[in-house]
Amino acid sequence: MKRIFSGMRPTGKLHLGHMAGALTNWLKLQRDPNVECFFGIVDWHAMTSNYADMTSLKVNCEEVLLDWLAVGLDPEKSPIFLQSHVHQHVELALALGMLTPLGWLERCPTYKEQILNLSNKDLGTYGFLGYPVLMAADILIYKATDVPVGEDQTAHLELARAIANRFNNFYRPVFPEPQIMLTATPKVPGTDGRKMSKSYGNSLMISDRADALWEKIRTMVTDPARIRKTDPGDPNKCPVWDLHKVFNGDEASKCQVAADCRAGAIGCIQCKRVLSDRLNEMMTPIWDRRDRFSSQPGLMEDILADGAARASAVAECTMAEAREAIGFIH
Ligand code: SF4
Repeated sequence: MKRIFSGMRPTGKLHLGHMAGALTNWLKLQRDPNVECFFGIVDWHAMTSNYADMTSLKVNCEEVLLDWLAVGLDPEKSPIFLQSHVHQHVELALALGMLTPLGWLERCPTYKEQILNLSNKDLGTYGFLGYPVLMAADILIYKATDVPVGEDQTAHLELARAIANRFNNFYRPVFPEPQIMLTATPKVPGTDGRKMSKSYGNSLMISDRADALWEKIRTMVTDPARIRKTDPGDPNKCPVWDLHKVFNGDEASKCQVAADCRAGAIGCIQCKRVLSDRLNEMMTPIWDRRDRFSSQPGLMEDILADGAARASAVAECTMAEAREAIGFIH
C-alpha cells in the first residue's frame, strides 16, 4: 500500500492548468485502491512569501477547497484539510529545522530563483529560507511513501529524503525516505501563449463560466501566419491547438480541426468555438458541483474539520515516535 501526501498553497482560484496537471493526477491516485491519499492546503506556506499581507488567506483557502471539491476530490475517501489545523506539521518542521544544515537550504535551486523572481518582496527571512524544511515535514509527518511531483519539484523531494535520512541516523529510523512519483504535466498555455499562470493574467479559471471562458478563448493568440480564413495554418504554432490536445476529448473533431487548419478550411473563431463547446461540456458538472458545495453553509468547515481530525490521528502517531526518538519525556 502506498501513502501519498499532496499539497497546494492557498493562492486563490485555480486554473485549467492546475486541473489538467496536479488535480487530474490526484483524482487517479484517489481512485487507486492501493494508494492512501492525504490532501492538504498548505496555508502556513503562504506566510513564507506573503507574510506582510495575509488578508486574503481565508478566502484563498476557501477558493482552493471549492475547486478541489468541484473537480471531484472526495473528502470521504481521503482527508482534505488545512495544514494549520494539523499542528504536528509545524512541530515536526521545528524539529527537522534543528538538524538541517544551512548549506542544504542555501543551495536549493528554487531559493535563489524565487528571490530573483519575487524581487518586490523581502524574502531574506528565516521562514523563507526554511520553507523546504516545512515541506519535508508535510510529507514525513504522514510517513508518505511516495510524493507526486512535477519535474521542477524534485530538488525539494531530494532534500526531504536527505532530512529524513539525517533524522533516522541521529536518533533511530522513524521516517521512510519518500519516493519521487514523477507526474507528467501536459502543456497548458494561457491566452497569450505563455504557460498558464495567474501571475501572467492569462488563465482560464476552473470557476469561469461559459461566457467568461468564451470571452477569453475568443481573444486568444493563434498562429500569426493566419491573417485570412483561407490562409493555411500550423496548429503546432498555436496555443488554441495545445488546449484542443488537452481538453478536446473528441478525437474525430480534433483531427478535423487540425486538418482544416492546415488546409485553410476553418476560421480561427470557428476552431475556438469547437474548443469552447468541448470545454463547456466537460466543465458543466464541475461548475454544478462547485455551486452545490458553495451553497451549503457550514459544509466546507465540516469537511475541513473531519479531514483535520483524520490527518491529526496519523500525524500524532508519527510525532509521538519522533519525540520519543529524539529523547523528549512524554
Ligand atoms: Fe489555431 Fe485553430 Fe486557428 Fe489553426 S484554426 S491557427 S489551430 S485557432
